[in-house]
Amino acid sequence: MDDLLLLILCSPSGAGKSTLTRFLLEALPEVTFSVSHTTRKPRANEVDGVHYHFVDKDIFARMVDAGAFAEWAHVHGNMYGTSTSEIDRAKREGKRVLVFDIDYQGARQIKAKLPEAVGVFILPPSMPELRRRLESRGTDAPEVIERRYQKALVEIEHYGFFDYLIVNDDLSRAQQALLGVTLAERHRRVRLAPVAEQLLRHGTLESR
Ligand code: ADP
Ligand code: 5GP
Repeated sequence: MDDLLLLILCSPSGAGKSTLTRFLLEALPEVTFSVSHTTRKPRANEVDGVHYHFVDKDIFARMVDAGAFAEWAHVHGNMYGTSTSEIDRAKREGKRVLVFDIDYQGARQIKAKLPEAVGVFILPPSMPELRRRLESRGTDAPEVIERRYQKALVEIEHYGFFDYLIVNDDLSRAQQALLGVTLAERHRRVRLAPVAEQLLRHGTLESR
């Protein structure tokens, strides 16, 4: 098993993936975020290269043809994809956890290619609360919010594909649950076996 934990976060839009991802990035320095490509237009608070690589449809299609994506999908009327170079970057930077904020179609494709990836599905506490969060975020037009809300149950129906479920009701509880899952997965014996082997061979872990 690779030393890099591939952590997929998935949920209906508005359930709190981005909020929980931000928390994990601040809590653990060994975590990095997989910056996806998308044909969606940037929101007011979004920075190119930080939240997404914002590209037009032609560039996205060319990247698909060139095999640049580990996964890609149509989501809510736009195209989104994870470039293989994001996984290479995380390894190059010596990160231990790579977080993917992707939909269930992307999760399926990543798991097919990289079965050791760990999937976490975030559930909203209720459907009215999900709608309230979509509206209170204040980033999307009413018709966009409606489209995302209408797709939410279809997305939640895919929960069975994931390894962990977190109900994002009280935010700090959800944050602690995500931290717990991440740390537990980081400490799986198969992932840390090379550490024990290094200790046996060299008597120290200092070069890690
Ligand atoms: P997603 O990335 O899944 O689309 P966001 O992280 O953008 O969702 O969250 C949607 C909105 O809900 C944001 O305004 C966020 O501040 C709010 N939010 C997230 N988690 C909670 C929570 N546990 N309680 C209340 N509001 C929350
Ligand atoms: P948003 O437009 O709110 O940023 O994201 C909409 C949906 O697209 C979310 O469910 C998000 O997880 C998903 N998404 C973001 N990036 C990717 C990606 O690279 N691949 C896939 N398959 N979905 C993505």
